[in-house]
Amino acid sequence: MVTLVLFLWSLLDSVIRQFVDLKEGKTNMLIPSTEFFKNLPPKECVKCGDKIDEMHDCYSHKCDNCEKEIH
Ligand SMILES: [Zn+2]
Repeated sequence: MVTLVLFLWSLLDSVIRQFVDLKEGKTNMLIPSTEFFKNLPPKECVKCGDKIDEMHDCYSHKCDNCEKEIH
C-alpha cells in the first residue's frame, strides 16, 4: 500500500515538474490543456447543428434546447 502511494506520488511529481519546465520554457513536449482545447473544432449539436458550450457538458452531443426536448 505504501509502495503504491509512493509510486503515485512520484508520478504526480514528474507531471508537475514537466508543467513547471513548460512554464519556464525549458520544454515543449506537453501541450497545455487550454491550448489543446482551443485547437479543437467547436462541437456542434447532432440534432440542430448549434454550437455546444463545452464547459457546460463535455459528454453531451446535443445542445441544451435539444436535451430539454428529450427529457
Ligand atoms: Zn440542438
